[in-house]
Amino acid sequence: MHYQSTRGSSIKIKSTEAIVSGISKDGGLFVPEAFPSLTPGKIIELSEKPYYERASYIMSLFLTDFSIEELNDYSFTAYNSNNDNGFTNNKIAPLRKLNSSTYFLELWHGPTCAFKDMALQIMPQLLTASLKKINEKSKICVLVATSGDTGKAALEGFRDVENTNIMVFYPKKGVSEVQKIQMVTQTGSNVNVVAVDGNFDDAQTGVKQIFSNKDFTDDLKNNGVLLSSANSINWGRLVPQIAYYISAYCDLITDKAIRPGDKINFCVPTGNFGNILAGYYAEKMGLPVNKLICASNRNDVLTQFINTGVYDKNRPFYTTVSPSMDILISSNLERLLFELSDKNSAAVTSYMTSLSEKGKYKITENVKNELKRIFSSGYCSEEDTMKTINKTFYDEGYLIDTHTAVAYKVLSDYRENAKDKTISVVISTASPFKFCNAVLKALEQPVNKNKSGMLFKDDLSLIDKLSQATGCEIPASLRLLGNKTPRFNETVNKDNMKESVLKFIKEG
Ligand SMILES: *Cc1c(COP(=O)(O)O)cnc(C)c1O
Repeated sequence: MHYQSTRGSSIKIKSTEAIVSGISKDGGLFVPEAFPSLTPGKIIELSEKPYYERASYIMSLFLTDFSIEELNDYSFTAYNSNNDNGFTNNKIAPLRKLNSSTYFLELWHGPTCAFKDMALQIMPQLLTASLKKINEKSKICVLVATSGDTGKAALEGFRDVENTNIMVFYPKKGVSEVQKIQMVTQTGSNVNVVAVDGNFDDAQTGVKQIFSNKDFTDDLKNNGVLLSSANSINWGRLVPQIAYYISAYCDLITDKAIRPGDKINFCVPTGNFGNILAGYYAEKMGLPVNKLICASNRNDVLTQFINTGVYDKNRPFYTTVSPSMDILISSNLERLLFELSDKNSAAVTSYMTSLSEKGKYKITENVKNELKRIFSSGYCSEEDTMKTINKTFYDEGYLIDTHTAVAYKVLSDYRENAKDKTISVVISTASPFKFCNAVLKALEQPVNKNKSGMLFKDDLSLIDKLSQATGCEIPASLRLLGNKTPRFNETVNKDNMKESVLKFIKEG
């Protein structure tokens, strides 16, 4: 299988090259030339397999430069529950039944307690293997700007991976306390974590400027260092995510909740559109999907888009209790537009040009109709996010995080409006213990910290409070945070990020 760019130049590359390059030279994103199909028989066959085999089979359909043995090997390393730093649930991506028509797909049993682990536990293996296969000898330096979850998941994924270094920039004010402690206590000999004096956009812009500084990157290349990114536009991050949609369907068959061929809905808390796009790709492969419901928080640019066909980022940016969805430009939407417009790369290019020049674009009626065929959308206010956490816990006995709550509320609204009784799966993207402060508030529990006199320990005392208030078990990796020592305390000005990278590369 080959990959092409959404912007249409005649580029045609292999999966290994797509994974190493990340983004296409013409500014577009890499997409598969065609979608492999998943037969009903194959879905039944997969439902008898463990998660890692489901994942390696799905990946093998797209990553044809790898043998199934190689993919099985990476997949087993990533998705097993036998080591201290890996997944803590042996189903890897378990389905939790709430009632006869509502299930939650828990994607947060990995080492960093957010769904980013599903891709970032395997992507470093795909990247280093791809480098070998294309005979690229440079050492890789991965740069990441994070609003919280990606940074930690990338650090865990790349920690002590041969021939790589990883450097993460996070906004000094803009990540939760638990997220910050997770990052600054990161172990590994090839990692570095730096706070940026600014918000997420400053950190992100800084990293983008480093990538586009040709003199700088050429210089590094001559010294044997290749910059790489681990963000969600990389094909190596998307392809592993297709697997859990299919896995959820397999588990519903095994549980006899559905018969093979029955259609189901997925409702996805969305930010950069990577997660839900993987669901769309699963549907294109033949997974029986009725609706993909895109859930937004107060930053509801995607809901507006799906309802009106106009994407307009000229609007206020809100900081919310679901920070991983606080985003105004959803990069992976470009890949969806490409498919919806029947691979019309000229149209995609004009939308993206309009987005960068005017901050908005409008899709044609045809594209909009295609969009509406499979997607539905809704948004959830801050108040409703808190109410949903409260109600879901006290009335239904299930504790969910702020992002998952957005999706659950949007699903409930959708059901009421559409009168749709199809079995629905809410994609649960983070452990509630990552967002203790907001979750405790939602449960109307006191959030005053136990003062030990140490900032670090004080912040972590909220984790214990949440466990005491709910009787829910603290994920092992978060419970152990209290024993760890902070290793990184550097803060840089947003204009000095390049120097900081250079220093890290030189001094290791
Ligand atoms: C990243 C993230 C999201 C958004 O996922 P996208 O693929 O960017 O749409 C939602 N919830 C959590 C907890 C996340 O970490």
